Amino acid sequence: MRDGEQTPGVALTRENKLLIARALDDMGISVIEAGSAITSTGERESIKAVANEGLNAEICSYCRTVKMDVDYALECDVDSIHLVVPVSDLHIRTKIKKDRDAVRQIAVEVTEYAKDHGLVVELSGEDASRADLKFLKALYEDGIDAGTDRLCFCDTVGLLVPERTTEIFRDLSSSLKAPLSIHCHNDFGLATANTVAALAAGAKQAHVTVNGIGERAGNASMEEVVMSLEWLYEYNTGIKHEMIYRTSRLVSRLTGVPVSPNKALVGGNAFTHEAGIHVHGLIADKSTYEPMNPEYIGRQRQIVLGKHAGRSSIILALKEMGLEADEVQIEEILNRVKQLGDQGKHITDADLQTIAEIVLDIYREPLIKLEEFTIVSGNQVTPTASIKLKVNNKIIIEAGIGNGPVDAVINSIRKAVSSCAEDIILEEYHVDSITGGTDALVEVRVKLSKNGKMITASGARTDIIMASVEAVMNGMNRLIHI
Ligand code: MN
Repeated sequence: MRDGEQTPGVALTRENKLLIARALDDMGISVIEAGSAITSTGERESIKAVANEGLNAEICSYCRTVKMDVDYALECDVDSIHLVVPVSDLHIRTKIKKDRDAVRQIAVEVTEYAKDHGLVVELSGEDASRADLKFLKALYEDGIDAGTDRLCFCDTVGLLVPERTTEIFRDLSSSLKAPLSIHCHNDFGLATANTVAALAAGAKQAHVTVNGIGERAGNASMEEVVMSLEWLYEYNTGIKHEMIYRTSRLVSRLTGVPVSPNKALVGGNAFTHEAGIHVHGLIADKSTYEPMNPEYIGRQRQIVLGKHAGRSSIILALKEMGLEADEVQIEEILNRVKQLGDQGKHITDADLQTIAEIVLDIYREPLIKLEEFTIVSGNQVTPTASIKLKVNNKIIIEAGIGNGPVDAVINSIRKAVSSCAEDIILEEYHVDSITGGTDALVEVRVKLSKNGKMITASGARTDIIMASVEAVMNGMNRLIHI
């Protein structure tokens, strides 16, 4: 949570940090670096809240080799500190303007100071991959003598390659008595490979971030490291891997950092299939075009339909929805899907379900129906919406406020349907304008989830608010039946 929060533009509130910390703890993460206590009063309040949350994980604060940093960490009630000391000559010279001996001395002093105050200490060499290895070892030995509990090797600017990592960690782990950690950055896309290499060569702990967020190109990603170990090395990490996807979504939502669609394991397309021939193979045996079961990390495979859709994709998609169709019906569903595809439309799960239900003649009356709504918005008022819905044939009137008119109306819908759709979460919200100009047709696409089941739904209108309402209500009506 410390290095992850160093992603440009990310700042987590106390509540957000608590939510993420709880999720990490539930997953079985052993150490949570909750922040850097020296940063600000607000940061200290957040770290303290996480430390006093009664989690199983060890709660840690980042510290420079400055006693004041340790004092601030102590104020936050943390169990441990990640004590970072520059070890490359470049960092020693330019950052702290001292020499190697002075660095060794200060590392010892601050380690002893922290140990005297009852803290678990992980002594970390910053920019270790560019440091003189002999000097680094001497500093680590000093740290062990001063009572440090763990040592960490930081590849601060991501310059390691797996072969070199193996060499370094074989050497360090055979000659040093304290357990070693690895901390990798992804500047060359090798963070996961280097982290796994270090673990295979004797490292006992790895620093990772959810979704690989962090400064520049980010850190080694939690899900990639955990799943490489679990699936490729058949090593039991003890992490509750079925919570990986949920945690990835939570962190993306709270940090506002989107996950790229082709990101390993947690990207939107990681388990999505469109091409007809692949889908044909999938029906015969799911492992044909999938590296692992998506369920293992709490995901589900998605079949995307478009103009490339074939009979196989339709059959599989229907099967996933629990619907059965005969040859003639499948042909008719395929025709309708292709018609939409030719118009350049995304065919969402909701679209296909609607098409299939009409063709299979099992169209259901929507549970939630819009009667009317009103929005008040402007530069001197809090955006406010009132809504009248028919839910289960009962009229419900509710009002809500929000950050903007769309937020206000969605909040009012949420309140109105709380009796039947309480556990539905709005995961994503996208707006596309189909044609140019302010009179353009606007398509709103939403991703809603309920108990891990994800669906996408859309609405298309010239009025952005109406399109949003339509998309959310379409999705809710679909999800309620799942
Ligand atoms: Mn870092």
